[in-house]
Amino acid sequence: MSNQDFPHLYGPVPSRRLGYSLGVDLLPFKTCSLNCLYCQLGRTGKTSIRRGQFFSEKQILGEIERFLKTGARVDFITFSGSGEPTLNRSIGRLIRKIKKMTGIPVAVLTNSTLLSRPEVRKELAAADVVVPSLDAASQRVFEKVNRPHPSLRADKIIDGLIKFRRQFKGQLWLEILLVKGINDSPAHLKKLKAAAEKIRPDKIHLNTVVRPPAESLARPLSPEEMQSIKEFFGEKAEVVAGFRKKEQEKTPEDIARAILSIVRRRPVSLEDLERSLGLTREELSLNLQRLLEKKKIKMVRHLNRDYFEPS
Ligand code: SF4
Repeated sequence: MSNQDFPHLYGPVPSRRLGYSLGVDLLPFKTCSLNCLYCQLGRTGKTSIRRGQFFSEKQILGEIERFLKTGARVDFITFSGSGEPTLNRSIGRLIRKIKKMTGIPVAVLTNSTLLSRPEVRKELAAADVVVPSLDAASQRVFEKVNRPHPSLRADKIIDGLIKFRRQFKGQLWLEILLVKGINDSPAHLKKLKAAAEKIRPDKIHLNTVVRPPAESLARPLSPEEMQSIKEFFGEKAEVVAGFRKKEQEKTPEDIARAILSIVRRRPVSLEDLERSLGLTREELSLNLQRLLEKKKIKMVRHLNRDYFEPS
């Protein structure tokens, strides 16, 4: 089993909220309507709001079907990946077909920018969990933190989220990512809270810059600051801390392949890999060393922590 067998899938990787999440990537790298300061995929070359098909639906569904037959643990099938998944216009059909194929719940991580379109709302309504982002409640802050496609308006996005909540019967977890000095002023937090109250999500997930960002000026808030903002947002809010440790049921046969499959999608620390692969630090160190020597991966330092990325 190699990445070539499943070019549109990654993981299952442990995610903070979805357990062992099999990622489905519907986009050529990096296709996004935003160019967030904190993006862990790096800068967006040119933002886009044009939807496309990009890949064969049949091929993606075939990969998922084959992967599920391997017996690997999958708690969620999650659309995210190399940009904004709703830019793929097959997403609604794919969600519905996956739901027919398996009882494993389907999640979509979205930047919310296309939810102002009725057809996108209808398509995502077939998922079990939708995790939309909202980092800004004013156009000024939106432009600072998310550097959007010029046609996008923060108020239209909030309106789209309110409408989506009305029609979506599944779990809606609103994610707010806070960047120090950019979208965390008391006045802006008040606006975000008011927007969240109108949207009425099931949960509010507060996050900050914990992985190497596109721009080094994107700095994290401290745990204490996050805690006090959580209290301000009220009982639905939680700080999305590290992934809670779960028992990994299987050790991957090919450690190097498993490491590459994770590193290819996002920068990871040694601790992330330990949790993800259920391997000891010693076992990992040896394999990481080999991958570094072969220049398959490289190490970058961010906030006094080492992360591994593809070379
Ligand atoms: S963080 Fe998400 S929404 Fe923002 S630029 Fe990166 S892929 Fe796009």
